[in-house]
Amino acid sequence: MDFILGFFTPILIYALIFALNALLPGRWVTGYVNKPNSEEKMRYHLNGFPVFSILFLIWFLFGYFDVVPFDYLYNHRWHGLAGAFVLGTVFTLGVVLPYPPVRKSFFKDLFLGRIENLQHWGGRVDAKMWLYLAGATMLGLNALSFTAHHWILYREHASTGILLSTILIIYFVIDYLIFEEVHLFTYDLFAERIGFKLGWGCMVFYPYFYSIFLWTTADLPDPQTPVWLLAIYVLIFFVGWILARGANMQKYFFKRNPGKVFLGIVPEAITNGDKTLLVNGFWGISRHINYLGEILMATGIILCTGYPTLIWPWLYPLYYVVLLFMRQRDDDKRCSLKYGELWKTYVKKVPYRIIPYIY
Ligand code: NDP
Repeated sequence: MDFILGFFTPILIYALIFALNALLPGRWVTGYVNKPNSEEKMRYHLNGFPVFSILFLIWFLFGYFDVVPFDYLYNHRWHGLAGAFVLGTVFTLGVVLPYPPVRKSFFKDLFLGRIENLQHWGGRVDAKMWLYLAGATMLGLNALSFTAHHWILYREHASTGILLSTILIIYFVIDYLIFEEVHLFTYDLFAERIGFKLGWGCMVFYPYFYSIFLWTTADLPDPQTPVWLLAIYVLIFFVGWILARGANMQKYFFKRNPGKVFLGIVPEAITNGDKTLLVNGFWGISRHINYLGEILMATGIILCTGYPTLIWPWLYPLYYVVLLFMRQRDDDKRCSLKYGELWKTYVKKVPYRIIPYIY
């Protein structure tokens, strides 16, 4: 019985997120991607933060009134993972098989997807944005539940570092949800199709792998990390956040209004008369300083847990290194095709790909 309930928990949570995403009021936003065979931009109904807040409230009230223990998702993490795994697989098949092939290989189609965008009810639910919302919310709930387990186990001897790492990952989730609109201007939205990578990735990998640093340390005792060291880890996180959020926001404002000053940075651009590229501010430090920011944030989070010699937590930032270094190469190819000579000029002006003076 326990297995069955645990198995269906993420499925229930995803269904609730779907209903709230569709039914709660939200902001209607014009995106970056065109509607199929049209010059008109797609419209999105965004309400990620209220949806997450309601799920958080439910988790808290259920725990507080002893309906469901605070650490239920930790105690049933393997069952939950199995449920999410099956749902993610079914979702992938359901979102790939009905559409015509786009590649010769069926398996590539299954992995990368066929359909570019999928919306229901006039855009009230967008499959890509729902997937990211579902993954982020589930990650937040997992992190809270895993840390609750640590707290229940150790009470006054609980580790400050574990609590801190949870605050930081929740900050990461809320930051994404508050700036959900900026995500409409990113690679996932304009360059990816909906398949295993995006569907299974958001439903399974995102909430269950990104929480690996808590999954593997929540039952360990306080490692007594000194406060000054924790302060350095938090600093690493926020330096990363400034780089990632700053670069994403600067580009977002530039795409919306190329003359807009951001954080006192007057945009400097190169153009071929048709297209333009930003070459100063965050986009003048390296061509993907936001990727370095993302890696630093993950590093700060996992270091806070206080077990730097344990390999499992490191898998989270290491995964970013692999994903983002590969993505930078793909994006560079895409931009080189799209911008031609202008991209070459940008590469000459800003030679570093991700890490200034190193790479
Ligand atoms: P970017 O936000 O860097 O977007 C790349 C695109 O921006 C390019 O394809 C190009 O698109 C445009 N661009 C590139 N250089 C310039 C320039 N100089 N001036 C103007 N436009 C430019 O990358 P992503 O979309 O991959 O990532 C977005 C964010 O999401 C990043 O912060 C990343 O770290 C984060 N991310 C987070 C993940 C996570 O799991 N937490 C996973 C992956 C990414 P165009 O054709 O429109 O000009």
